[in-house]
Amino acid sequence: MKTFVYIDHFKGEAQPASWEALGLAKTFGEATALVFGSGVDEMVKAAFGYGADEVLLADDSALLDYRAETYASTLSALASSLSPDLILFPTTTRTREFAAMAAVDLNSNVITDATAVEVSGDTILVTRPIYEAKLFEKVTASGKPQLITLRGRAFPKPEQQEGKTGTITKVDAKTDALTSVEGYSVAEVGVSLNDAGIIVSGGRGVSNNPSLQPPAGLDDKQAEIWKAQQGFKLVGELASVLGGAVGASRAAVDAGYIPYSNQVGQTGKVVAPDLYIAAGISGAIQHLAGIRSAKMVVAINKDADAPIFKVARYGVVGDLFVIVPALTEAFKKKLGK
Ligand SMILES: Cc1cc2nc3c(=O)[nH]c(=O)nc-3n(C[C@H](O)[C@H](O)[C@H](O)COP(=O)(O)OP(=O)(O)OC[C@H]3O[C@@H](n4cnc5c(N)ncnc54)[C@H](O)[C@@H]3O)c2cc1C
Repeated sequence: MKTFVYIDHFKGEAQPASWEALGLAKTFGEATALVFGSGVDEMVKAAFGYGADEVLLADDSALLDYRAETYASTLSALASSLSPDLILFPTTTRTREFAAMAAVDLNSNVITDATAVEVSGDTILVTRPIYEAKLFEKVTASGKPQLITLRGRAFPKPEQQEGKTGTITKVDAKTDALTSVEGYSVAEVGVSLNDAGIIVSGGRGVSNNPSLQPPAGLDDKQAEIWKAQQGFKLVGELASVLGGAVGASRAAVDAGYIPYSNQVGQTGKVVAPDLYIAAGISGAIQHLAGIRSAKMVVAINKDADAPIFKVARYGVVGDLFVIVPALTEAFKKKLGK
């Protein structure tokens, strides 16, 4: 099976789930990594380290910032001339977009968010979650190329081998595009939710600390947001001690407490951490849709009847403004931080 793996990155920082995709590709035979960007030598090295046999490198200043048109045209030109059987991607907002565009050019299709991929002869069997991950469907695909995006943390990440090299083949970038990138309003910094092994999330409850006195001059809405930001500081401190990422419910995002990029759930990010700590989150079905693959859920909520406790392995009924800082202190001591 001739397998290409697209190494997704944000400003030259590879998405770790790309290495999981390379690991899967290696189980089917040789793996060719696709690296698109400008000045991305470190990513090429890493691709070999994580198992790529060959790297197809499109290094061009026009590919410095991600744009769907340039990335999709570069990919479809490559796939048309080299005819891979399978093109794997980590599932990210970018890959969902440009894999679909390339699939149209290639008269093929994209299967998104796979949690298992089996190959038997020319047939590929993909398992993917549907109906908010309440069911898993099996999709059979034939014809080539098949474009499949893989759910983050659903496949093991291979061990990185120091000093491993392979063949680098330079390929042309397709540079005509109708759009240009002026900048990014949201900085993707810190641990990304998609790759996080530990996530600490806050909900509407993070604004509910009656003992906090907001600064003078704020109206009611501004005071609520200020209080919530103090709550999210505590959530962030716990996440930071644990080396994890900060998540949020939609209620917290809609109320302006925290940006949308932190939202977990049906209309936010679907995550699969080893540990998910939910503080001041009730556990609405749309939130739970985003955390079904979490290995362990811990809930902190004042209301013993909150639905989040039904999915939590451990639950603490209490005030998050007491419990979260106490946990941070306890983990600091335990981890020697
Ligand atoms: C189409 C659609 C899509 C949606 N998509 C999403 C999505 O992607 N993600 C998502 O999260 N939601 C989503 N929602 C919204 C969802 O239905 C809920 O409204 C939302 O998840 C509630 O957020 P919450 O738990 O933070 O708030 P609430 O339901 O208001 O819960 C707040 C919780 O905090 C607790 N609390 C309050 N104060 C404290 C305190 N001091 N200490 C401890 N606990 C405290 C309360 O007991 C309560 O349980 C969607 C809704 C729809 C209709």
